[in-house]
Amino acid sequence: MENRIYNFSAGPAIMPVEVLKEAQEDFISYKGTGMSVMEMSHRSKTYDAIIKGADKDLRTLLNIGDDYTVLFLQGGATLQFSMVPLNLMQGKADYIVTGAWAKKAVKEAKRVGTVNIAGTSESENFARLPKQEELKLDPEASYVHYTSNNTIFGTQYKTEPEVGNVPLICDASSDILYKKIDINKYGMIYAGAQKNMGPSGCTLVIMKKDLLLRSQDTLHTYLNYKIHAENETMYNTPATYAIYLMGLVFKWLIKNGGLDAMYKTNVEKAGILYDYMDSSDGYYKPTVTVKEDRSLMNVTYRLPNEELEKKFIAEAAEKGFSGLKGHRSVGGIRASIYNAFPTQGVAALVELMKDFKSKN
Ligand code: PMP
Repeated sequence: MENRIYNFSAGPAIMPVEVLKEAQEDFISYKGTGMSVMEMSHRSKTYDAIIKGADKDLRTLLNIGDDYTVLFLQGGATLQFSMVPLNLMQGKADYIVTGAWAKKAVKEAKRVGTVNIAGTSESENFARLPKQEELKLDPEASYVHYTSNNTIFGTQYKTEPEVGNVPLICDASSDILYKKIDINKYGMIYAGAQKNMGPSGCTLVIMKKDLLLRSQDTLHTYLNYKIHAENETMYNTPATYAIYLMGLVFKWLIKNGGLDAMYKTNVEKAGILYDYMDSSDGYYKPTVTVKEDRSLMNVTYRLPNEELEKKFIAEAAEKGFSGLKGHRSVGGIRASIYNAFPTQGVAALVELMKDFKSKN
């Protein structure tokens, strides 16, 4: 259809075609207003309905109660690496380090207070997640920070680490909305939009309201969660168009059966790929060493050598499979198969892999 290729990009990433089409229909004049959403005041009645609708639909999808605030911020997940400790760290915090993004979060937190590395698999090149019994958690920590899905290393938590009464903070940039989670287990979740929710430019923050009390008035205004919450994301001009598209994605998810249905499809999709690799006599080798830790979103694997990997990526690109190159820091292959990625594309990739193996 319409020259669409199989887009395995890790992010910005594939969006649902239905959403793109709806945005296209509304692009020049949004529902008879005579203007595009991107030309509209963020304080207009029409836009107010768009952002409130996105908030409401997200709350429906994740069953978020009134004791949580939802913010649509900017600065990427990267700004959250700073905002989290600036607002929430009272002396010390625990960080579970499972990859490059967690390390970046630690780097910023260290500027604010004492960081306890509560667990890490760095010595094993992040090829698995630290087990619960390996964690050295501090019951006095301000919070525990972890990354639910490691976009580069291809590991993913299937259940949250258990952290007792300490608030749990999650960077869910690359797997938010891949399944239903119990939001009440979290003090805060944040995620950049550009993998599972929409285009880049907006960062979603879901935060337990009682944590807002920690934000000090001495903080710079934009960096203060309490200010954003009091102003319902409208302290300054938010990323209006990105939020509109996120709202369309939320509606698309609801229309397609919600997060339980999405999860079922995600398990199926990743299963097609991992099952084939496991039966490939080691020709295709997942980089993750513990099966339960394999990501349903970013499937990372190696071929017998780098030469073959290069050849595979080049041949795949010729056949309309884009974005399969692993992160520049680790090499190999990475197939990112977020919510919007079609099952048939995963099946097509497996066919390509079979063909490549037989010829090489
Ligand atoms: N955390 C994770 C898990 C990520 O995958 C990424 C980006 N790929 C980031 C944080 C950084 O996000 P951003 O580029 O939106 O700042």
